[in-house]
Amino acid sequence: MIITDSDQKDLLTGKIGKSESFAIITHINPDGDAIGSSLGLHHALCNRGAKSKVIVPNDFPAFLKWMPASDEILVYERRRSEIEDWFSHVEVVFFLDFNDLERLGRLKKVIDNKKVFSVLIDHHPDPENFADILLSEVSVSSTAELVYRFIQQFMGNEIIDKKVAECIYAGIMTDTGSFSFNSSRPDTYHIIAELLSKGINKDIIYSKVYDNFSEQRMKLLGYCLDKKMTVLPELGTAYICLTAEEKKNYNFQPGDSEGFVNYPLSISGIFFSVFFMENSGKVKLSFRSKGDFPVNYFASRHFQGGGHINAAGGETDLPIDKAVDRFLGLLPAYIQEYRNGKF
Ligand code: 5GP
Ligand code: MN
Repeated sequence: MIITDSDQKDLLTGKIGKSESFAIITHINPDGDAIGSSLGLHHALCNRGAKSKVIVPNDFPAFLKWMPASDEILVYERRRSEIEDWFSHVEVVFFLDFNDLERLGRLKKVIDNKKVFSVLIDHHPDPENFADILLSEVSVSSTAELVYRFIQQFMGNEIIDKKVAECIYAGIMTDTGSFSFNSSRPDTYHIIAELLSKGINKDIIYSKVYDNFSEQRMKLLGYCLDKKMTVLPELGTAYICLTAEEKKNYNFQPGDSEGFVNYPLSISGIFFSVFFMENSGKVKLSFRSKGDFPVNYFASRHFQGGGHINAAGGETDLPIDKAVDRFLGLLPAYIQEYRNGKF
């Protein structure tokens, strides 16, 4: 995305050129795109001499902790007063990779009623109007891709060094399932070519993200697929549910279930996959689909959630067995609506 509106361009050029302190905020349960786009922008701002802090509502998975400066990220749950202090004098705040302030959990309180110039950069559908400048482009693979073009436009190509490039690459790679979905725009590959020319090693980045799991996590995956997956061929749907007790049995660590929801989509004829997991007294749901089956409507209509057409999430206060019952009750009508061409 290149910003063409001249008022927006002038405002951003002025704010980014003249400001010295920045906050970069991303969503709860941060994923590779959230952390990659945030750290990529952080390094670019630092490279031009500004002070920047990346702030997240809660901790993020170990397989993202290799990224340069990932150990400097402020986690709201642990660094509340430092974050509030930074917010009291910061000049510009970037919101990355989310479309609604509710996605910040308790961190939202810090932002509420603060008069700080804010910029949203995101690729989720239907963004709420909560920032001074909204840069939203749904067709783009990832927020990292948008941030890359943003850095080029407002800070110059020469500011992009290997550190920036590694973080941006990690964001694009994780949000496209290593270029298996959301990745058919030619510009994604122009960007990848440019990142490679900055000296990144894409194979090492892949390995750091995907070849770094614990033995217990691999066993948990096997258990989920063998014992906990239900396949409903007539509805093109499969789901997995995982209880808190089962997580304990496998010494579950944050991020261990990342990617589990994708596996059922490898079954022939399955286009809708759901993963239910007990988490902090609630049930977190992850939805994935293939083709034009929209999981974000299902998540927002029924499970207080949202996301993209093929990847969405939500949650419920119901016990996990009741959550599954509710899902099974809603499923046939939703599939029917889809088959009738309602979406
Ligand atoms: P995941 O299943 O990996 O947690 O999330 C998949 C996608 O759905 C991501 O793009 C994420 O931003 C979105 N998402 C996940 N959980 C929620 C939620 O509770 N609310 C909303 N609005 N989006 C969510
Ligand atoms: Mn994203």
